[in-house]
Amino acid sequence: MNFDESEDEIPLMPPTTMPLTIVIIGAGPAGLLLAHYLLQRGKYTVEIYERRPDPRLTDVSQDRTFPISLQERGRKAIRMIPGLEEAIAAESVFCQGTIVYQGKKQARRIAREQPILSIDRNRLVMVLLQQLMAQYSSEQFKIHFGCACIQVDGLGKTVTLQPDTGDAFTVAYDGLVGADGARSQIRDYLVQQSGLQCDQQYIADAYKSVFLQRCRGDVELEPDKIHTCNFDNKTRMIMVPQPGDRLNGVIIFNAEQNPIEGLSTPEAILAFFQQNFPQFGQLMTLEEAEAFLHRPVGRVLAVRCDRFHDDHAVLLLGDSAHAVSPSIGQGCNASLEDVLVLGRLLETYDDDWNQALPAFSQQRLPDAHALRELSDYSFPRNKLLVIEFFLRLTAGRLLHQWFPQWFKPFVFDLILDTDLPYSQVLTLSQAWINKVKRSSPAL
Ligand SMILES: Cc1cc2nc3c(=O)[nH]c(=O)nc-3n(C[C@H](O)[C@H](O)[C@H](O)COP(=O)(O)OP(=O)(O)OC[C@H]3O[C@@H](n4cnc5c(N)ncnc54)[C@H](O)[C@@H]3O)c2cc1C
Repeated sequence: MNFDESEDEIPLMPPTTMPLTIVIIGAGPAGLLLAHYLLQRGKYTVEIYERRPDPRLTDVSQDRTFPISLQERGRKAIRMIPGLEEAIAAESVFCQGTIVYQGKKQARRIAREQPILSIDRNRLVMVLLQQLMAQYSSEQFKIHFGCACIQVDGLGKTVTLQPDTGDAFTVAYDGLVGADGARSQIRDYLVQQSGLQCDQQYIADAYKSVFLQRCRGDVELEPDKIHTCNFDNKTRMIMVPQPGDRLNGVIIFNAEQNPIEGLSTPEAILAFFQQNFPQFGQLMTLEEAEAFLHRPVGRVLAVRCDRFHDDHAVLLLGDSAHAVSPSIGQGCNASLEDVLVLGRLLETYDDDWNQALPAFSQQRLPDAHALRELSDYSFPRNKLLVIEFFLRLTAGRLLHQWFPQWFKPFVFDLILDTDLPYSQVLTLSQAWINKVKRSSPAL
């Protein structure tokens, strides 16, 4: 049945019925922060359904995780919940800049005006969850792990969930939020039943997580810097200090030309890192090389939608609405900022979702589309443009320092050191983005 044909039959969300039951699909950063916001408003009960197992019961420390850098856009969203930023900061490391290793050449240092908070993705999820459990009763907040959403009935306002063990069951909602990541089931429902236009594309880069100790023998990397190294213009590593002297990160490579595909033993893996990423290879043990060998390759699906809601209280938030390449580290920042924007709109419209959701799409779409452009084209792959990138970064800083009224910082500093809306960052950086775009036809 075409969703549009049945429009008259579907009840709109009654703005006066309180508390409203909001079902959130996905307990990632966006879904969990949204639960905090809704519960803080005192007008909702919240149920979350998450496909993965309960992180409190299983060791997820090295399972599909990577460090996430949070700057002001994400942090200001977290700050609205008392005590949350402090709890997250306690599990994080603050990085003051980046060191770029360049083979035998001297490493390049890029200082940061604002320190970047870096936290492991699963650890961030754990803190958000623990704070929810500590603050709200099971009457107000329920969370079910190992439970995947498999179907949505917009007409009946129900979702069907499939637990890992046992039979599927159905729950009713007043509002449904798809915070279920880039491969969102809720987005699929909106595409099929509500005419949502959505473009989905795997980006060329794939990644594998790497876990090291920051110090080994007499080798020690700086504790408050992000460490990166380019092997060629398609393969690079980003390693970020974590509490407990750990160094977590990823190796990123072109999915079509996986440089580690043919390596089948821990010794070969170790030799690959020692040869091509010597700063990190020295810190790698044979055990880590073995674990690395068996870890899955991750692919990133980029998503672009023409709206984030339907007229019947279904909303997409975070990666399900606008997943992007991690190249500029903004996916999670933008996902958390979504929650801040939605929270403000619920306040403005007195929790009337019939008004707040269209307003959310209208306000957030330009920024989401700009974020996609910035993520795809801020950082060039072409060698000459990489040199120009660093020259512009340095010149941009100096000129902005001397003549702030005439010169804005370069694109990376606008992204990382400010909380300007992404659409404004794109407008200010359009000439550079166009230049990179012209040089990267494959993207
Ligand atoms: C290598 C890498 C590095 C990154 N670094 C950064 C960074 O430095 N800074 C930054 O801001 N961003 C970064 N990101 C992006 C960031 O990880 C995402 O933008 C962020 O996690 C999005 O949060 P989310 O809650 O929307 O989605 P997710 O984190 O994807 O969470 C979605 C949840 O929904 C669950 N789910 C999915 N389908 C279902 C279903 N059918 N039923 C029930 N549950 C379901 C999933 O299991 C998952 O737990 C990085 C991403 C990658 C891959």
